Amino acid sequence: MMKSDKVLIFDTTLRDGEQAPGATMSSEEKLQIAFSLERLGVDIIEAGFPISSKGDFDSVQNVAKHVKNSVVCGLARCVIKDIDAVIDSVKLAKHKRIHIFLATSKIHLQHKLNKSQDQIVAMAVEAVKYARKRMDNIEFSPEDASRTEKEFLYRILEAVIKAGASTVNIPDTVGYSTPQEYGAVIAGICNNVPNIGKAVVSTHCHDDLGLGVANSLAGVQNGARQVECTINGIGERAGNASMEEVVMAIKTRSDFYRLSTNINTKEFYRISRMVSKATGFIVPPNKAIVGANAFRHESGIHQDGVLKERSTYEIMDPEEVGLPSHDGLVLGKHSGRHAFKERLKNLGIDLPELSLDKAFNSFKDLADKKKEIYDEDLVAIVEDQGHLAYVAYSLVDLISTSGTNIAPEVVITMMHKGKKQTKKSTGDGPVDACYKAIESVTQLKGNLLDYGIKSVTQGKDALGEVTLKVAIEGETIIGRGASTDIIEASAKAYINAINKYVAQRNLKK
Ligand SMILES: [Zn+2]
Repeated sequence: MMKSDKVLIFDTTLRDGEQAPGATMSSEEKLQIAFSLERLGVDIIEAGFPISSKGDFDSVQNVAKHVKNSVVCGLARCVIKDIDAVIDSVKLAKHKRIHIFLATSKIHLQHKLNKSQDQIVAMAVEAVKYARKRMDNIEFSPEDASRTEKEFLYRILEAVIKAGASTVNIPDTVGYSTPQEYGAVIAGICNNVPNIGKAVVSTHCHDDLGLGVANSLAGVQNGARQVECTINGIGERAGNASMEEVVMAIKTRSDFYRLSTNINTKEFYRISRMVSKATGFIVPPNKAIVGANAFRHESGIHQDGVLKERSTYEIMDPEEVGLPSHDGLVLGKHSGRHAFKERLKNLGIDLPELSLDKAFNSFKDLADKKKEIYDEDLVAIVEDQGHLAYVAYSLVDLISTSGTNIAPEVVITMMHKGKKQTKKSTGDGPVDACYKAIESVTQLKGNLLDYGIKSVTQGKDALGEVTLKVAIEGETIIGRGASTDIIEASAKAYINAINKYVAQRNLKK
């Protein structure tokens, strides 16, 4: 059979990506990411592992209910209750898929499952047949495939395709393969599984040796037509193949790969930031495609060359990946509501009127403090709005005093249930003092696990953005806040985390 020249993109940011230690996302954040994945043009969204928890089930269901263009997929082991949970959770999806997996390598068979090869084939076939009675779109993954004996791999793939699987995914679960080796595994499957023409072959490569993207591309070159990947390459341990890198390699080097995807690459920069915010994982500046330095030229020779002719040192146009342009200032103090709305539209953000009002007010506040407002500032404002749903406590006023020879002191005024409360506290530094004051208002004790600050844009008056991770009564929560004043940004981030915690606690009641 002739291979199509289209590579399907299967995103697993919400499932494998969320398995990254510390990357837990709320159901609301997952839905927002799912919408962005849909706009990005992702073919299949793996929304979660429904049997793993009630929260995961609900969040898959939520995505299934709202996403219309992408296929919504849930993960299951070869166990009836897992398969039922997926079928129930994706029931409302316009397009749905179940992804069933079972370990097949000798090492997994012996140490994890304690089963013979015959038993494994029987289990896989039974599970696929069971699912096939209620769903058409079935993907099967032999876990640890790259370390599975070839003959056995061919045998189980033939059996599951015969039972009704239309996609067979070949995971390099432990990130051990090399591009040549992995490419050969895919070629071997395409040449030796008799009914392989009835299924799409998929890659799923982990990045333990930094080869996730290279292995995925080697798979594609050898006949795979689906790539499983995540935004920013997040995932278990060192992560998965990064979607933006795989897609931009296929696009930029179409002369070499002669393939294409359905991805609207202009959405990459925005979704990368969104995932980074939801998980609290900061994108390193040197990260390919979406890192802050990915398109920056420091050397004078390079700068000069790019100004004369872009292609001298730039292999991609920054606009192609949606990098906001820095040509001149975007908006300022005197910009009106219409200009603000239009600018957001250009950034792909369409807010309902009420949220638009709130965002516009924040924009005006910011414009008073900061001369030039860049696209990144606008995105930060809107993302701040996104969390207004959780407001149990809000910041009214903050006075911070510190100096070389005085103990830092913070006086904070916060609003809670319509009442203002003011508290004063000292601390080891202004941030510590601020957090102690917040704690004395909220009566919630948090244990700060991680705290990071970075500027959203360039310039001394840039917005500072604080991202922190805090444990409150055993729950790990990510908080974010932006302001031109870093103590205020720190306060906002902490209050954001507390509000999320309170919202979660209320949900459980
Ligand atoms: Zn994985």
